Amino acid sequence: MAEQQATTVSSTHKLVVKNIGLMLSGDIERPILEADTLIAIGGRIAAVGRFKDLDTDQADTVIDANGTVLSPGLIDSHVHPVAGDWTPRQNQFGWIDSTMHGGVTTMISAGEVHTPGRPKDIVGLKAMAIYAQRAFTAFRPGGVKVHAGAPVIEPGMVEQDFKDLADAGVRLLGEVGLGGVKDGARAREMVAWARKYGIQSTIHTGGPSIPGSGLIGADVVLEADTDVVGHINGGHTALPDKEIRCICEGCKRGLELVHNGNERAALYTLRVAREMDELQRVILGTDGPAG
Ligand SMILES: [Zn+2]
Repeated sequence: MAEQQATTVSSTHKLVVKNIGLMLSGDIERPILEADTLIAIGGRIAAVGRFKDLDTDQADTVIDANGTVLSPGLIDSHVHPVAGDWTPRQNQFGWIDSTMHGGVTTMISAGEVHTPGRPKDIVGLKAMAIYAQRAFTAFRPGGVKVHAGAPVIEPGMVEQDFKDLADAGVRLLGEVGLGGVKDGARAREMVAWARKYGIQSTIHTGGPSIPGSGLIGADVVLEADTDVVGHINGGHTALPDKEIRCICEGCKRGLELVHNGNERAALYTLRVAREMDELQRVILGTDGPAG
């Protein structure tokens, strides 16, 4: 496995990418840019436009895109990393690097739940979250930025635990429901503590997946009130359409569609979000790695 760290460029390094056939903005209101050239200085985008209008002189690096498409790196909102680019799922090496080849440059952990022997006690789960946050900050598999360190809530956690996690740099909660907390009322209290300290949350929506997970229906999802409705199209078994609609209409939180879910339910969610004119709530993830 090739160990790759993030490449850093000098603050004056000038990159010109020219002959871009189609440039995507990443903004759903204005998806296509009138541009065929991009200039980055010191690793940051400095200008976008037509080649003839831009100062492309004295570039350190010139890339000829040969008419291909340039788009912002994709963000995978739902992954389960373990250690570097290894996972015990099918004993894979390089799954993050492979995802990068699909255009993903940023990943958000929904919990390091595939870790063999994952601790469930409170001190242990906090320690593991801090470890994962540190390890993935210091190491970018295939260059991908992995936001990890997403503890799964367990019964007995108190407000101070969320403050401790936030003080230590943890910014995410793993999927609510993959641990011992499965009821809406208790989840809601902990999710609110997490939010108070700047920790973003998500929930396992739908049928059970890994051992220890359970069915999470619309009532629990709405009561828990996480920032993201994790895999609303099932991970992998989806809820009935009626419950999906009830979640979409019953809250203003992010609606996450995952690849490792039910495709029909994903399209149904998309249709409901479009009907509501709330497509900006829809985010995409993979729930990788999985079988
Ligand atoms: Zn899940």
